Amino acid sequence: MRGKNLVRSFSLLFGLLYLFSSLASAQGFSGLARVEASQSAAKGTVEEVLIDLSLSQGVPYRMFLLDEPPRLVLDFQEVDWTGLREEEFLQGEGVLSARFGTYVPGWSRMVLELAGPMTVSAASMAIDSVTAAAELKVQLQDATPESFAENTGAPQDSHWDLPVPAPLKRPKQRDENAPLLVVLDPGHGGIDPGAKAEGGVVEKDLMLRFALELGEVLIRSGQFRVQVTRDDDYFVSLERRTALAHQAGADLFISLHADSIAQGHAHGSTVYILSDEASDAASSSLAERHDRGDLLAGTDLSQTDDLVAGVMLDLARQETRPRSKALARSVVSALQTHGGPVNRKPLRSAGFSVLKSADIPSILIEIGFMSSERDLKNLLDPAWRNQIARSILAGLIEWRILDEAQKDLVRQ
Ligand SMILES: [Zn+2]
Repeated sequence: MRGKNLVRSFSLLFGLLYLFSSLASAQGFSGLARVEASQSAAKGTVEEVLIDLSLSQGVPYRMFLLDEPPRLVLDFQEVDWTGLREEEFLQGEGVLSARFGTYVPGWSRMVLELAGPMTVSAASMAIDSVTAAAELKVQLQDATPESFAENTGAPQDSHWDLPVPAPLKRPKQRDENAPLLVVLDPGHGGIDPGAKAEGGVVEKDLMLRFALELGEVLIRSGQFRVQVTRDDDYFVSLERRTALAHQAGADLFISLHADSIAQGHAHGSTVYILSDEASDAASSSLAERHDRGDLLAGTDLSQTDDLVAGVMLDLARQETRPRSKALARSVVSALQTHGGPVNRKPLRSAGFSVLKSADIPSILIEIGFMSSERDLKNLLDPAWRNQIARSILAGLIEWRILDEAQKDLVRQ
């Protein structure tokens, strides 16, 4: 926990640099600013880094530093990143990785993972008065861990992705036959593409498509209402996903993925639940990778740990855990009966952050693995996806009956 959140260094928070609207109209405003890949680079060493980003037009931007791992985050009004390739953009060992893409609708983000603690020593965006092209230059200098720590943290005025702290809700009394609210969570999005396959297929797109298809199937059954954590290609942090489920008053939460796993030649649908101890090494590294994907997309975790709340959450989770497990079991058995192919060990567990809702039964389904040729072919097949969607529906219906029976038992 950091007490200095409110005293963030303003020297790093440049605020939004609004440009004169005449600049945009002067060049026959064409929508998005484009990155000029050939004139953009992040060069330098662990002592000094120079970032040069060339854009077709000026855009409002801001920047800040984050720790664990050290990162520089640059936010822009939407930028078209087409043509920019990480391996060409990064030159020298001062920056370890670069991610760029949509953050929230209308805004883009670039996250540079730094080789060590650094501070911004100079930054400017120059606009060419004739062409309106813009050049952003940022200079970073190595810093002590102390001075770095003083200058890190996401801006507090950011309303972009801060989850609203949600109070724990008691189960509400409701008509037993009323549709349950399912929050579907298409994995990844925007700056975080998830798994990638040849031919430009990315997990974030596949899962958005599948979530919308599954939503249709669930709604048509009349037994469920559906909300999604994202309905387009933008970034949503793991914490935000669970916060959205709370805000919506979800009865259950299902995160949808199709990751790539090198370990153990994973294939077939697999259902995961939350646990402190992972069921196996592959599940553990999968959960870690999802958290890391969030970090590389520029999530600030420095303000999220609160010990007291942690204890409360653990107590509430003890009640929810058996319900999540029953949900996972029902979905697995429905997939085995109606879907397939199913993983040889279809029910697994690990410390997935997105499953940490204390009071909402939550599961994560790897519909298939994009690293498996067979699974990828299935994932791209609408008929197969429809069959999986109907299997999941069957699992949810079975779980609902069991869950109601269980509640009656508790009440007696
Ligand atoms: Zn994934």
